[in-house]
Amino acid sequence: MPCSSPASVVFRCFKCIERSADRATGAAGPVLVTLGVGLLGMGTVCFFDVIEPTLPFRLLLTPLCVLIAGNMFAHYYYACTVPPGFTQGPVAPGARGTAEGDRMPEPRGWNWAPMRRDRREWEMQMTPARVTLCRRCGGRKPERAHHCRVCNRCVLKYDHHCPGINQCVGIYNERHFVLFMFYLVLATWSFVIAGYSNAWEAMGFEHDWPHRSPGVAFIMTYILSIAIGLAVFIMLAWQVWGIAVGETAVESQDFAYYRRLAKERGETFVNAYDIGKRRNLELFFNTGPDGLHPWWAMLLPLRALPYTDGYSWARARGEHVGIGFRPDDEVLTDEEEA
Ligand SMILES: [Zn+2]
Ligand SMILES: [Zn+2]
Repeated sequence: MPCSSPASVVFRCFKCIERSADRATGAAGPVLVTLGVGLLGMGTVCFFDVIEPTLPFRLLLTPLCVLIAGNMFAHYYYACTVPPGFTQGPVAPGARGTAEGDRMPEPRGWNWAPMRRDRREWEMQMTPARVTLCRRCGGRKPERAHHCRVCNRCVLKYDHHCPGINQCVGIYNERHFVLFMFYLVLATWSFVIAGYSNAWEAMGFEHDWPHRSPGVAFIMTYILSIAIGLAVFIMLAWQVWGIAVGETAVESQDFAYYRRLAKERGETFVNAYDIGKRRNLELFFNTGPDGLHPWWAMLLPLRALPYTDGYSWARARGEHVGIGFRPDDEVLTDEEEA
């Protein structure tokens, strides 16, 4: 096909728009994080100034609210600051991260990690990841890693690039990302339910507003809590469903295509990372009988480590991903640039 064909022009146009969108996503990151911290702070001040003094059973509910707020801030901080798992150093000026790529973070500070017990081999096995080279950055790309076009680097167990945390969601920060969404939903719902009468009070003109936080800030937080609480709940449900079936956001698109293709061929597509919903969730949060963390560690604002370094994966016994594809066909979303 000659270079100047209409199809080629359209393709180059599309690529140009895509690159602009990536740059915009990267630039929006710091703005959204600043806005996020501001809104979380405003919501927390409004809650403890206006709603908390009116709560029943304060001896019980106030510590619970402090715990929810603490978890929300801590997991947001971790999601934003824990490197997602770059497989190598920067490949372009301005790219973020360490030069050697990210290593499994050592537990320190607020981390909590008891001794790792021997991993029992039940219905799954740990097998090394197939490693290929990225066609975009030339870095190592073990299976489940993908190239992020915004960061211009490959990320282990890449899920998506989130402007709301100004970085990728990958193997090392995905637990914090999910836990942040969970505690944000809890916090916004608590605000909406417990702050119902205060919201009426703030809107009424016959009474004085006796609180230090401005009434308009309270109403704004209340309305935002309804919208964000609903939107993030849907995102969280989708994310947790993906975890339960053993698929990242990228894989859910790829696997849907494979399932259609397999159906056309009269075959079935097998996702070997799916070891059953309960085990998938246990592996994700690195908890359960052979996990690093007890389940109740998720109730505390602690660092959570993945069960693998991204270079080997738990698989259903005797299974592998695919319906007889060549390895080259596997990564649909990392299509070669023209
Ligand atoms: Zn790459
Ligand atoms: Zn990224």
